[in-house]
Amino acid sequence: MSGTKPGAAEPGPGDAAETEGTGRPRVVIVGAGFGGLACARKLNRQPVDVLLLDRRNYHLFTPLLYQVATSLLNPSDIAYPLRAVFRRSPNVRFHQAEVASVDWVGRRVITAGGQSFPYDYLVLATGSSDNYFGNEPVARAAIGFKGLERAQRLRNHVLACLERAAAVREPAERTRLLTFVVVGGGPTGVEYAGALCELLHLVAGKDYPTLSRSELRVVLLEGRDRLLGMFAAPLGIYAERALRRRGVEVRTGAMVASADERTVRLSDGSAIPTATIVWSAGVAPDDPLGDTVPRSRSRRVEVGPDLRIRGRPDAFAIGDVASVAWGGVELPMLSPPAMQAGRYVARAILRSVRGASPPPPFRYIDKGTMATIGRNAAVASFAGLRLTGFVAWLAWIFVHIYYLIGFRNRLAALMSWAWNYLRWDRPIRIIVEAEPDPVVEALGAGPPRPHR
Ligand SMILES: Cc1cc2nc3c(=O)[nH]c(=O)nc-3n(C[C@H](O)[C@H](O)[C@H](O)COP(=O)(O)OP(=O)(O)OC[C@H]3O[C@@H](n4cnc5c(N)ncnc54)[C@H](O)[C@@H]3O)c2cc1C
Repeated sequence: MSGTKPGAAEPGPGDAAETEGTGRPRVVIVGAGFGGLACARKLNRQPVDVLLLDRRNYHLFTPLLYQVATSLLNPSDIAYPLRAVFRRSPNVRFHQAEVASVDWVGRRVITAGGQSFPYDYLVLATGSSDNYFGNEPVARAAIGFKGLERAQRLRNHVLACLERAAAVREPAERTRLLTFVVVGGGPTGVEYAGALCELLHLVAGKDYPTLSRSELRVVLLEGRDRLLGMFAAPLGIYAERALRRRGVEVRTGAMVASADERTVRLSDGSAIPTATIVWSAGVAPDDPLGDTVPRSRSRRVEVGPDLRIRGRPDAFAIGDVASVAWGGVELPMLSPPAMQAGRYVARAILRSVRGASPPPPFRYIDKGTMATIGRNAAVASFAGLRLTGFVAWLAWIFVHIYYLIGFRNRLAALMSWAWNYLRWDRPIRIIVEAEPDPVVEALGAGPPRPHR
């Protein structure tokens, strides 16, 4: 059987215009991040009709968000319009919408705007959002990293702190405005703390002649006894030393107990006065399925060995949202597992459409992990090798350029990095507040809501 499936979902009277079908099996992919996009690309020019839904109209390259937040890259350098990705595709369509629920019986995806899209195969790839582990005051006081809007907010906020500090004489208020606390010593916290220090040292005494470097404080808090817990211990120790050399105050074994807009309080009773708390200490799955699907202890959606959602044979879950067993733990929330799962699910769907036997169980191939600390300093581990310093930093640049989508984006990122390397400059030091627009708001676009 080629290209058709008996009982293929038919559009109903309430279905959206994009559901005009060809009679081929319909695949609806919810989420066009790393997993969803990899799946859609693999299904391109195949005998299925694919509808890719996302609350944003672009694919976001999250590993470089911290460079938007630290004035080195423009938002457009790390985002790529999804309609452009599939402009020439005969069978993949994109539609911007926030998915609110799934009608499992009617096999339809329902959006927040009330549209419905029928599916024969559903792929859930909605990623994750910041997790504050139920600490409401910290959630209110901190700025998270998920989404371009938050990265831009962070850039605005840090620059605004400098502007205000430059105008303030009162020492305690100056100290508060010039103390920046980063919570979480994983790759994102380490990368952001290193880049933030570089930005602050660049402008102190120059753009801001009344602010001296000695007044600036970047504090990185990590609950465990070392940074980069997912890497081998020597790499975490290297990262800590490299950050300290750059002026970051690293505090391990430091748990945040509470916070408000003036202070962070730690569980050992100490307090740090600050106007800036950056949260990179945890993420949780973010999906609209609620309790209609089984979940693991970490609230990720339980899937079988072929990534089908347990009890939902026509639906798959991939990436951050899916609980996939891996050596006794869950697969980490990283982009390579999401992309590999996306391609696997596309192959599984095509085999099912062709009436072939199901694929062998999904197996993740770990190609390694890396994190950068700043100029000439990074850590990387792959194929049993551990790299630090300049070589790891070059490897980091190569891998990130390779995976960025779009030639213009690659060129723009490379040019910005070269500019920064040669001129010691982070040029996008602008404070831009976006004004809300009712039509955009109606799309439900924006960063994911944090888990509190
Ligand atoms: C700041 C930061 C830095 C990171 N750095 C790295 C790194 O260096 N290396 C690495 O491997 N990983 C990194 N990660 C993790 C990586 O981004 C994720 O593991 C990866 O994006 C997961 O892919 P995904 O497809 O599951 O979800 P995502 O890529 O997050 O995509 C989910 C998509 O679903 C959409 N969506 C969500 N809910 C809905 C809804 N209800 N309706 C419609 N659309 C919806 C979102 O808009 C989004 O486009 C980083 C993450 C962050 C936040």
